[in-house]
Amino acid sequence: MKILVSSCLLGEDVRYDGNNSSIAFDPKFPFSLKELFMDILCENEIYSFCPEVAGGLPIPRISAEIVKNDKPFIVKNQEGLDVTINFLLGAKKALDICKEENIKVALLKSKSPSCGNKEIYDGTFSSNLINGQGLTAKLLEENGIKVFNENELKELNKFIKTNK
Ligand code: SF4
Repeated sequence: MKILVSSCLLGEDVRYDGNNSSIAFDPKFPFSLKELFMDILCENEIYSFCPEVAGGLPIPRISAEIVKNDKPFIVKNQEGLDVTINFLLGAKKALDICKEENIKVALLKSKSPSCGNKEIYDGTFSSNLINGQGLTAKLLEENGIKVFNENELKELNKFIKTNK
C-alpha cells in the first residue's frame, strides 16, 4: 500500500528546530512498536513529505501555531508573522501528491499545526493542547484520506491489512 509519511517521523531533520521526530530512535517507543514501524516501512510504498518545507518554510524556522482554526484559517509564528499561506500551500501539495499517486492513507506527526490529526496547540504558544487538526491532516481527511499518527501504529497496521 502507498502511505504518505511525515518526513520528520522517518528521521529527516525538517522540524522547526532543525531536528527530527524519528520513531526508530525515540526512547518513548518500545522495541515492539519500532519493529512494527520498520515492518510497515519495509512492506509498503512510503512517500516522505513535510508540508511546511513543501510550503516554502525554511529549516530551522520559528515555531508556528494555528491561531484561528476555522475558515479563513490563520497560522502565525511565535514572532507574529502570518505564515498561513505556507501552511495552506503545504497542505495542498500533500493532497496533490495523494491524488497523483492514489495514496489513501497517511501517517502524520501528532500535535503539529500541519500534521496533527487529533490535537493541536491552542495558538497561544503556552503548550496547551486542544482537540483539532493541523491544516494538512484536515485537508487530507476532508478528501477521504485516512490519517493516523505515530501513536496509532497498530491501528494503521490494521487498516493496511484490511484494505490491501
Ligand atoms: Fe514533521 Fe509535519 Fe512538522 Fe514537517 S510539518 S516537521 S513533517 S510535523
